[in-house]
Amino acid sequence: MGTVTINALSKSYGDLNVLNKINLSIEQGTFVTLLGPSGCGKSTLLRCIAGLIEVDEGQIMFGNEDVTHLTPQKRNIGMVFQNYALFPNLNVWENIAFGLKVQKLPADEVKERTREMIQLVALEGKEKALPSQLSGGQKQRVALARALVLKPKMLLLDEPLSALDAKIRKNLRLQIREIQRALNITTVFVTHDQEEALILSDEIFVMDKGEITQFGSAKTIYTQPANDFVAGFIGHYNILNTEHFEGFSKFSHKEGRFALRPEVIKISHAPSELAARVTAPMQVKDIILLGSILRYIVKDAYTELVVDCLYEEEIPAFKIGEQVFVHFEPEKLKRIG
Ligand code: ADP
Ligand code: MG
Repeated sequence: MGTVTINALSKSYGDLNVLNKINLSIEQGTFVTLLGPSGCGKSTLLRCIAGLIEVDEGQIMFGNEDVTHLTPQKRNIGMVFQNYALFPNLNVWENIAFGLKVQKLPADEVKERTREMIQLVALEGKEKALPSQLSGGQKQRVALARALVLKPKMLLLDEPLSALDAKIRKNLRLQIREIQRALNITTVFVTHDQEEALILSDEIFVMDKGEITQFGSAKTIYTQPANDFVAGFIGHYNILNTEHFEGFSKFSHKEGRFALRPEVIKISHAPSELAARVTAPMQVKDIILLGSILRYIVKDAYTELVVDCLYEEEIPAFKIGEQVFVHFEPEKLKRIG
């Protein structure tokens, strides 16, 4: 269907302006993510694309076709939601075959396409199981197969992993990406989970209060946040103003507002000997163990920083209350204002 283009799309519910002149474009065959906190308008935007909600203003184009006022059926889109929405009294096979039967396709074709889908989502042997007999991850694979069996032009996924356990979530997100690549289907994935977005996406659209505040590759979004909101939402960026730098030596005075990633800051017992590094004496305020990452909170009179180190040794190298030196390369500071 070519590129999906959205032009100046707006939607309000009464006085509440949920989407404010959204512009975006999605290349054929790519996997893009709408990332943002709860309530920022992600589901509303997805439902506008699907045609489940009428827009107030703006335009939605699939290639050269204006679909803004087409019914969902005419848009030929597959959709998967957080809460499965399977038919409880139909088994796996029947759930997946349902849409094909509605289309009154020949029995042979229904059988062949259903079988193919069951294979694609790795549910062989589960054909006769009812939804109540499946795990959350299996149910979501049925939902995915049920959407894909109709050969949609586009796949929309609204927080499909949010209800699942961490381990299943991690497996299923990779399976979804594999299937998307195999079918080369344009996919819009909605999530509030920045890790999910960074791992999966060709392109991320970060949403804040009904607007797209930044878009770009995962690498761009992560390393070059455009503003405070993205810097705060996407990592645990340290946000620093001019006055926060008072304690740092070897540092030409910087005016403005900067974002600094926790993993580019180093801690040592002695000051850094590398002349180029910006350095300051600080005190360890807190230590948080995050699996493979050890997170230090360090502070001086002017600021508090989050510093992430690889957790290599059994005992953390620094103790709470200890005087240390923090240092980083000045070019790691990203200007955000
Ligand atoms: P998200 O998916 O990012 O969490 P939504 O798109 O579901 O956000 O909702 C955005 C805002 O619109 C929220 O404040 C929500 O309460 C409001 N909203 C969503 N749907 C409706 C509706 N049908 N009627 C009124 N307000 C709604
Ligand atoms: Mg939502």
